[in-house]
Amino acid sequence: MSSATPHSTRPKQTSFVSYVSPTPTSPWGTYLSQVDRVVPYLGHLGKWAETLKRPKRALIVDVPIEMDDGTVQHYEGFRVQHNLSRGPGKGGVRYHPDVTLEEVMALSAWMTVKCAAVNLPYGGAKGGIRVDPKQLSMKELEKLTRRYTSEIGIIIGPQRDIPAPDVNTNGQIMAWMMDTYSMNTGATATGVVTGKPIHLGGSLGRVKATGRGVFVTGREAARRLGLKLDGATVAVQGFGNVGGSAAELFAQAGSKIVAAQDHTGTIFNAAGLDLAELMPHVKQVGGVGGFKGAEALEPEAFWDVKCDILIPAALEGVISAARAKRVTAKLVLEGANGPTVPEADDILAERGVLVVPDVICNAGGVTVSYFEWVQDFSSFFWSEDEINVRLDKIMVDALKKIWDTADRHQITLRTATFAVACERILIAREERGLYP
Ligand code: NAD
Repeated sequence: MSSATPHSTRPKQTSFVSYVSPTPTSPWGTYLSQVDRVVPYLGHLGKWAETLKRPKRALIVDVPIEMDDGTVQHYEGFRVQHNLSRGPGKGGVRYHPDVTLEEVMALSAWMTVKCAAVNLPYGGAKGGIRVDPKQLSMKELEKLTRRYTSEIGIIIGPQRDIPAPDVNTNGQIMAWMMDTYSMNTGATATGVVTGKPIHLGGSLGRVKATGRGVFVTGREAARRLGLKLDGATVAVQGFGNVGGSAAELFAQAGSKIVAAQDHTGTIFNAAGLDLAELMPHVKQVGGVGGFKGAEALEPEAFWDVKCDILIPAALEGVISAARAKRVTAKLVLEGANGPTVPEADDILAERGVLVVPDVICNAGGVTVSYFEWVQDFSSFFWSEDEINVRLDKIMVDALKKIWDTADRHQITLRTATFAVACERILIAREERGLYP
């Protein structure tokens, strides 16, 4: 049309992305720099790379609830659908006082990459509420969950976007989410969330799946490094669902879990922590702090602990440039999402520390979530053995393809995972075409 502004003079379009102010070490800033690093390996698909830098959709919701004392509190909730090119959105829901839109955007984008890295027919999404759930009673937690689910109900659904557990959320919270969505839509919809209790269409093996995936990728990486798991020393940050399950599997393989850190404390035992005693302690008191069979350390000392394998399995951004210089491990297994900032990534690579990145390392959870979703649709449930064998195979095959890509281009496993995943996402983008 003659009235159209010539392309060269059009101002650069912003989007709601401009409402967040990422820094080089913040989650969205970290993600953007990871995308920039992969663009040279995307060939002609690079022209679509901008779509990876803009979440498709972000919903911010007010979550008011009546507290047990009769007062009304308002919490801020989010659900971001980063990319739906390959299928419905998939990603957890986090309850944490530090949750922000920027963080949820980054977590949703990493879900897009992760699902494509293991070739699941999903896009990426993530949700969260800015709340400290430990300050709430069970009744308040249930009200919070139900109101949040109802508010984001306009964009979630078994074929649209399927939430799952993340930090501070669990099977009970998924059960309330499933029930609320079902009540609002008038039919029991088990496939609307994954990570549900077994009696409500949950899958065997889901609770420990992320930790199992960390173990499987760690086992493969250790084999390539010539590092024997039997006798290897392991330090784990975050002793929740992911860190605790991974620690158990490494211990079963003969590794010594020499240090563990969570929000309650940092513990160390050079001879290896006795997990048969530590696990019940964590269950009983809510964390590793105060465990009798270990020495208590200052939190910062965790990063100086001598170990062969380091597993960050808590929150993002914990491996800063300064800490990367102190890491003693040969192998870092990113159980958490986004634990390593880009500058630290470079330092670890220069120091010859192998990093198995989050977008493949912790993909075991979403893989078994996918199994759960498939089982819900077919109403036919698999044995735990079948699930673990299929999970192992998907993780091993995906890691092999990523490793081959890394070798071919002489790039890190992180950039190789992004290369494999982004190629799949952008092929889908291109084949679907740009609507309208
Ligand atoms: P969780 O709530 O079960 O456990 C979180 C752990 O982190 C707890 O041990 C907590 O004490 C610890 N933690 C919190 N703040 C900390 C701090 N400041 N310092 C040290 N430790 C701290 O959560 P989770 O499901 O195990 O998730 C852990 C990480 O794994 C997150 O990054 C999450 O996004 C990622 N992840 C989880 C899944 C899953 O299936 N649950 C899947 C993929 C990735």
